[in-house]
Amino acid sequence: MCGTLRPSDAGSAVVLMGWVNRRRDLGNIIFIDLRDRTGVTQVVFNREIQAAAHHKAGLLRNEYVIAAIGKVKLRDADTVNKSIPTGEVELVVEEIRLLNESKLPPFLPSDAALTNEETRLKYRYIDLRRDAMQFNIETRHKVAKAIRDYLSAQGFFEIETPFMTRSTPEGARDYLVPSRVQPGTFYALPQSPQLFKQILMISGFDKYFQIVRCFRDEDLRADRQPEFTQIDLEMSYPQAERVWEVVEGFLTAAFAAMGEMIAAPFPRMDYDEAIRLYGIDKPDLRLPPFTDVRDCFPPEHLEELAVNANLPVIAVRTPGVGELSRKERDDIKPMFHAKGGARVYEDFKRISNKYPDAAAAIARKTAMEDGDLIVLVAGSAQAGPQTALPAHRKVTPAELAIYASAGLLRLALAQKYADRHRIFRKTGDPAKDYRFLWVTNFPMFEWDEGEKRWMAAHHPFTSPHEQDMTLLEQGVDSVTDPQSPLSAVRALAYDVVLNGTELGSGSIRIHRQDIQRKIFQALGMTEEEAKTRFGFFLEALEYGTPPHGGIALGLDRIVMILAGAESLREVIPFPKTARAVDLMCDAPTPVSERQLRELGITFKK
Ligand code: ASP
Repeated sequence: MCGTLRPSDAGSAVVLMGWVNRRRDLGNIIFIDLRDRTGVTQVVFNREIQAAAHHKAGLLRNEYVIAAIGKVKLRDADTVNKSIPTGEVELVVEEIRLLNESKLPPFLPSDAALTNEETRLKYRYIDLRRDAMQFNIETRHKVAKAIRDYLSAQGFFEIETPFMTRSTPEGARDYLVPSRVQPGTFYALPQSPQLFKQILMISGFDKYFQIVRCFRDEDLRADRQPEFTQIDLEMSYPQAERVWEVVEGFLTAAFAAMGEMIAAPFPRMDYDEAIRLYGIDKPDLRLPPFTDVRDCFPPEHLEELAVNANLPVIAVRTPGVGELSRKERDDIKPMFHAKGGARVYEDFKRISNKYPDAAAAIARKTAMEDGDLIVLVAGSAQAGPQTALPAHRKVTPAELAIYASAGLLRLALAQKYADRHRIFRKTGDPAKDYRFLWVTNFPMFEWDEGEKRWMAAHHPFTSPHEQDMTLLEQGVDSVTDPQSPLSAVRALAYDVVLNGTELGSGSIRIHRQDIQRKIFQALGMTEEEAKTRFGFFLEALEYGTPPHGGIALGLDRIVMILAGAESLREVIPFPKTARAVDLMCDAPTPVSERQLRELGITFKK
């Protein structure tokens, strides 16, 4: 109400309730900016008109809660405030009621400068009163509602799944909840509703979704939360394309709710192609792809440069960086994190001086323009021989090392020179500002060097590619070999990526028990282990499971992007710190001896 008064309300009697945002005392006249969720209105207390109300107003302080009763009046032309929507009117108070006082808060919602984040999180209720936070939480509501409305209209049911459950296989550590009734046993908080949503398909709810909390006990990187919200969905009988269509539909609706008109379908790219063009499985399409410039050099020059002629020579082009100083050029080397035998050639000028023909060819091939920075990444000639892989695995490990090193450098350079190339700035054109992409056909397995075994790249319920079933059959006999045919098995898995951020992952699932068993075998699980961990699910698979597939997207991240917020903590009402602490209610805490006794838990000293 405080933010909704307009000139057309002039003359009407209203009651405004809210917080004292700011008070200016000019003696006979006191101005108060009264604030509620909708905004602020200027409230005027005039000693000559209402002495009693004016006297009370003198006692008000920041963040007191009041009811102001009075008449809306048009402001004089010279006092109109163009910067707020209510700037043409004010409320002339006849009566005022003090609803509550406030201690002096550690910071004020109206403060222009932000206080430190710890204080903000400790006094989150004050922090949430700030305009920016009110906007973020409203954005969250609108985005979630648009998604719910869209999916409901498409025939999806929102169905809840348990929080107190068994371990789910998303690859993180579980949060555990001890059972009092059965001492020594634990529930796990779900890392995702994966198995339940698949069981819902077996149960005949052929279109499921849920905006749902997931819990993962991971070492928290800067922008992760131990509990976060997913838009989780699953459907029966879909091709991958059908899942993508649904996701494109609800994302379009969510973005439209915030006035951003994005276009679908999103472009699609094979995992291998993403690696070859961008060196990463979540390419930021706003930046130019790599160019392989190996053929710009004659073999003898590659030899002089100690470059491995059997591997790609990647030109990383960063547009609009301008001339680099000697020091800036020297700074590139430490930014380069070499994987395998990859090396960086950061001084393109030197290459141009020595090999002018090659440099000219590179400039042509990369469409280099004035001010573009070119850096080359190539394999060292000294690096050992390559190992051959099955023919249809397009990227070999030795190539991957070069692509991945170049991919990281490409992003680091783009970040470092963001102010110069301005590619990351919003243009107002959604087609340029939001570069969506589907990355598909991921490898099914990843080799874990530490554990010396194959892990599921997505999760173990992901279906392998139809054409790669023979490789899976062959591979289960060599599950401890990094060269196993398992390395070439592709999954029917897909990620949706926006501007270099992974928004979500999903897959077509395995619906046949025999294939599921093979996958567990490939992951080095014995029948017994598989039964203990997922027995209930394997059994369910045997009762007429329809083919099915789905996906989950991070709601927090989508809201963060749409609200233009800097971190996930800005769009989660009550987030945790990087040490997984809730500073407001001070969780986690020790519990009483009695609670521990009831649970049968003792701690080793
Ligand atoms: N459960 C998966 C995840 O949380 C998503 C999916 O496969 O649907 O990443």
